[in-house]
Amino acid sequence: AEKNIGWNFQNSYPSLPKIFYSVIKPTPVSNPKLAILNHNLGKDLGLDTEKLAQKEGIEILAGNSIPQGAFPIAQSYAGHQFGYFTMLGDGRAHLLGEHITPSGGRVDIQLKGSGKTPYSRGGDGRAALGPMLREYIISEGMYFLGIPTTRSLAVVITGEKVFREKELPGAILTRVASSHIRVGTFQYGARWGTLEELKALTDYTINRHFPEAFSSESPYRYFLDEVIRRQARLIASWQLIGFVHGVMNTDNMAISGETIDYGPCAFLDTYNPKTVFSSIDRHGRYAFMNQGKIGAWNLARFAETLLPLLDSDEGKALEIAQCSLDKYFQLFDSYWLNGMRKKLGLFNEEKEDKQLIHTLLDILEKYQGDYTNTFRALTLGDLQDELLQKQEFKYWYNKWQNRLRRQPQGKEEVERLMKSVNPSIIPRNHRVEEALEGAVERNDYSVMKNLLKALEKPYNYDENNDYYISPPPKGCPPYRTFCG
Ligand code: AMP
Ligand code: MG
Ligand code: MG
Repeated sequence: AEKNIGWNFQNSYPSLPKIFYSVIKPTPVSNPKLAILNHNLGKDLGLDTEKLAQKEGIEILAGNSIPQGAFPIAQSYAGHQFGYFTMLGDGRAHLLGEHITPSGGRVDIQLKGSGKTPYSRGGDGRAALGPMLREYIISEGMYFLGIPTTRSLAVVITGEKVFREKELPGAILTRVASSHIRVGTFQYGARWGTLEELKALTDYTINRHFPEAFSSESPYRYFLDEVIRRQARLIASWQLIGFVHGVMNTDNMAISGETIDYGPCAFLDTYNPKTVFSSIDRHGRYAFMNQGKIGAWNLARFAETLLPLLDSDEGKALEIAQCSLDKYFQLFDSYWLNGMRKKLGLFNEEKEDKQLIHTLLDILEKYQGDYTNTFRALTLGDLQDELLQKQEFKYWYNKWQNRLRRQPQGKEEVERLMKSVNPSIIPRNHRVEEALEGAVERNDYSVMKNLLKALEKPYNYDENNDYYISPPPKGCPPYRTFCG
């Protein structure tokens, strides 16, 4: 019967040396119920979502039954958490296996909140419903915004309670990722593995994500460069959209270049580069404005793990790594600058563009302008907002208009470009909270489903969707997020 759901598991990770995982099944739960299922994603994966929503499907999403071909494991990894190196691993997640999609893609199907593993340390192996729904909403929002990300196939309620200061309903998220290989996986291999084991992990990862590297002159160097490039691009795209990840520990940085681990993340409302949402980030290590630098720091930790593979001569290896790392900020800056140019409708480059952009951001910061809505207003040429009445802004606006006139493209082309990169609808914190309140407190998923529907078209300027566009009312206390 399971065959009918459409699972097509072909697992390659277990071929790695045994230090990289533990064979362990999810712990069954008492009374699983489907909270939400991502029908569109399921269909793209080649799954029969009607069947997945029935009892036998839910049993799989709850970890109570293992589908044909799956081989549940927990992955080992290490990581720097807020700067401190620790042994980690999937403490509450099970990788069911790698599913091959109808178009031939390979994706990890992972249950999160599915019970204890050898890496659970003091944890209960479980997750609460609110945070799992939150990951579902924000990861899907990111996907439709066009940002590389893991995705969410389903959330099931376990029927069991979890204890997090208070009693909460337990839940399991099914996460879909191009892989769960992290910077921390390499740190683990470099710290506790032999050179052979590290090499096996590296070759495996290259084969899975960067096969073209093998035809380059130095595959390991190519690999390092490409991981760096993808992270530069990813983090620049967070900055452009106003996304704060919140826990950029090295174990939460995926080698594939996808955004992973939606814990205390959130989107900026008013523009403040110092924004920190996470209640545990007391020193602002992962503040909005620090994300680019933290990316570099994490990649330096990654490069260190590859040193023995880059060259047998330590000095030479260091030189190669340094040279690769040096390219990061250049890449990050150019992805960001080019992205910002698009947000302002600029097709060509001028030397003063950076200045033009920073002046706007400074005005936004000074007057606490809404980040997303300001770019939306510029896109629409709608300058009614209070902020846009300020003298400083008017001065900037004239400069920008003059700049637009110095390029051959006309108004329509500019508008089209701006509409394609400046979202109208993002997962606003207060709307996400309303959706979660409905689902968790009142078992009413309609608010969440409506939000998800709106998030599918973030660049939609045709409908005036005031409810999702409006920022939180003025005078609200700063938004705080918590780890799930
Ligand atoms: P995170 O901060 O989400 O990146 O998680 C850090 C580490 O803690 C990872 O190894 C997780 O698997 C582990 N972890 C988080 N919550 C739990 C839990 N409830 N039980 C066991 N391990 C957990
Ligand atoms: Mg994590
Ligand atoms: Mg997490």
